[in-house]
Amino acid sequence: MEEKGIKGLLIDYEYCTGCYTCVVACAQEYNWPEGISGIKVMEIVENLPGGKHYLVYLPFPTEVCTLCASRTKKGLEPACVKHCMAGCMKYGTISELAEEMGTKKRMVLYRPR
Ligand code: SF4
Ligand code: SF4
Repeated sequence: MEEKGIKGLLIDYEYCTGCYTCVVACAQEYNWPEGISGIKVMEIVENLPGGKHYLVYLPFPTEVCTLCASRTKKGLEPACVKHCMAGCMKYGTISELAEEMGTKKRMVLYRPR
């Protein structure tokens, strides 16, 4: 119950194309110094039967992510959510996002500290 109003990001990385637009959108919004980013995209190689490989992109917010508090206070979506053309990210309360998370296999829920 205590978590009802706490916000977070639900990332459905099944459809992440690794385009890095979220990284660029975050950088443009916050003008981070070199080497710092509010979000990173990890590339993971999955080994499949038959010697095949599958490349998975996993976007994850970092410790400097503010969940775009300055934007969401004004009723705007976080910059990364707005600009992801694949629609991989969703902003909302932890409780509603946690419910949705159980519905698909490649999802992660980010909750700020
Ligand atoms: S989360 Fe969206 S914007 Fe970021 S790399 Fe994946 S597809 Fe691109
Ligand atoms: S929510 Fe805002 S601060 Fe966090 S990664 Fe997305 S654009 Fe960057």
